[in-house]
Amino acid sequence: MVNTPIRNRVFSITSFMILSIILIHMAVIPFLYQRITEGYKTSSSEQFISHNTEVSGLLADVLSTKSLSENRNDINDILNTAVLGGNIQFIEIQDHLGNTLSPADDITYSPETFLEDTTVNQNGDDIYYMQVPVRFKDLQENVSMLRIGFDESAIISDYTDIKEKVFYTLSIYLAVILIFIITITRYIHKPLYLLRDRSREVSNGNLDVPLGISSKLSEIQYLADDLEMMRSTLVDLAERMQHKATHDDLTNLPNRYLFNDRLEQSIAFASRTKNPFSVLLLDLDRFKEINDTLGHSVGDEVLRIISNRMHKGLRETDTIARIGGDEFCFILIGVGHSAAEVIAHKILELIEPEFEAEQHKLKVSASIGISAYPDDGENAELLIRRADVAMYHAKKNNLPLSSYYPDMDSDHYENLLLANDLKNSIIEGQFQPLYQPIINLLTGQVCGCELLLRWQHPTLGLIHPTKFIPIAERENLIGELTLSTISKHLHKFSELIKINENFHVSINVSPVNLIDKTLLNSISDILETRRFPRGNLYIEVTENSIMKNPARSAEILDEFYKTGIMVSIDDFGTGYSSLAYLQKFPICELKIDKSFVSDLTATSNNYPIVSATITMAHDLGISVVAEGVEDQEVLELLEAMGCDRVQGHLYTKPLDFEEMKDWLINYNNRD
Ligand code: C2E
Ligand code: CA
Ligand code: CA
Repeated sequence: MVNTPIRNRVFSITSFMILSIILIHMAVIPFLYQRITEGYKTSSSEQFISHNTEVSGLLADVLSTKSLSENRNDINDILNTAVLGGNIQFIEIQDHLGNTLSPADDITYSPETFLEDTTVNQNGDDIYYMQVPVRFKDLQENVSMLRIGFDESAIISDYTDIKEKVFYTLSIYLAVILIFIITITRYIHKPLYLLRDRSREVSNGNLDVPLGISSKLSEIQYLADDLEMMRSTLVDLAERMQHKATHDDLTNLPNRYLFNDRLEQSIAFASRTKNPFSVLLLDLDRFKEINDTLGHSVGDEVLRIISNRMHKGLRETDTIARIGGDEFCFILIGVGHSAAEVIAHKILELIEPEFEAEQHKLKVSASIGISAYPDDGENAELLIRRADVAMYHAKKNNLPLSSYYPDMDSDHYENLLLANDLKNSIIEGQFQPLYQPIINLLTGQVCGCELLLRWQHPTLGLIHPTKFIPIAERENLIGELTLSTISKHLHKFSELIKINENFHVSINVSPVNLIDKTLLNSISDILETRRFPRGNLYIEVTENSIMKNPARSAEILDEFYKTGIMVSIDDFGTGYSSLAYLQKFPICELKIDKSFVSDLTATSNNYPIVSATITMAHDLGISVVAEGVEDQEVLELLEAMGCDRVQGHLYTKPLDFEEMKDWLINYNNRD
């Protein structure tokens, strides 16, 4: 394949022009050369011949005044004088009888047989032979011939000279033409290449610098002008699009995207200059009512009026953005908590006066929450979150504004905010499963593991299930969470089962899950389509959750049992239910709560409880797992009591999938 730069050079205007000039001149120059040299040759030959014919005629005339028999000396003199002129190389007279007479003394050359020439440079002897008739006085009746050989070397060398000169002149002409063409095309090319380079920069997004190309060639100037116009239109368009992408259509204020960007910049700037700044979150009070009762167009008008008013109260360096329906966020540069409160009051005062929106006289109020960098958070999310917490606090306590402080009912608000994030975090896969092995005491083998979820929150870090499970239950997202966990990680369960046969994975199912029959069907479907052996999946339900609605629980657990999924009673001992009662449920295993196990000694109060539970469970055909086994003594006691399986830090803390695989392989290979 031809490489592109070479190809570009070959298929360029310069090369096309040079090539066509060369082609034209290849035809024209030989023609010109031929015409000039041949023209010269013909005209100079004609002149030479006619001149010499004239000379010969004159000589013949002079000779014809002489008598051949009487004036031999005169005739000889005439011939010798003619030769002395230098131009004649040969001269003789042949009489009518064919005798050669009176050859001149200085003849330099004499041909063997005389042959008259018709053109110059005939026979290659540099002599032009010709003869003219002479009638001597005594031989009037007979014609003698005067034969002369003229030197033609001068005219031949002139001709060669001229040919050379024409050749050089034409070559110089060709070279000049080529240099001219190259210069001209370069002159055209330079602005064209410049245009190309600048257009490339424009297409690479570098729109800011004007093209700045001027050329005396009008076509190129037109092209440059058009491109410049296109660039400025693009700049305009990009600016409008940028504005649209970063601003709210209704109020023309920066939107959430631009606000976040400004906040990040403010943090970067403040961390360098050690200057504080504050974030204000403003939420209009009862805006929903305006929207619902007076309509959306009044609502929109209210937002426009309010944002205009607030905007007027701020300095150039401050930012106000509309980040939600009736939520506005401010960044106040160089302002700490107390100054921010003053400004917040000012903003509220600006909002307060009555105004008219589509003929409705209205008055609105708002609540403001304030957080300050760096005291209340060093990242954008935390600052907004804390301003949000403060705003909720203000609303809840009927305050116009409130600054965040650490003891603010943060747990409550944090839960609210976590609830906000939960839905997305499930979709985004922020939940990670950990696995904790369960050991069969009879065989010493690992017989399964329990899946324990963690929430890897992007800003708050690791969140434990004790915190997020209740929120997920409250937000009605627990079913989605359980299902997405199974569906996302089922292939990992299969991998674990491959390492240890008869291995089961236990997943925790919340009481809310127990009411939801569709969850069971969904789990069942996933197992079916992925061909996961049902007997290898256990669900753990707490004793408490069963006792909340025993009849309904029995129904659902029955369904689970029928599909082949194993049911385990979790945290047994904390629900004050009797084992005899639990017998009604289709359970295969119970897990004694860690509060009974962790501190177990032969003399502790828990000892008889654990021991009796194991015995009774066995009597009912139910196997027993003790969780929270942290030391060897406890393990030995449990073994002595006949406990079937154990789980706890003695073996390992919950591990992530890769760690769990390694742990399993190591455990299997132990001596
Ligand atoms: P759980 O089902 O009783 O799980 C056992 C808890 O005990 C786990 O806490 C585990 O890390 C911890 N643990 C294990 N071995 C020991 C030990 O030797 N000593 C001590 N002190 N603790 C031990 P974790 O992971 O924080 O889970 C807490 C609870 O959150 C779980 O209690 C379970 O009820 C719930 N949970 C976890 N994952 C899920 C889930 O995916 N869905 C639902 N609905 N609940 C879950
Ligand atoms: Ca459990
Ligand atoms: Ca438990």
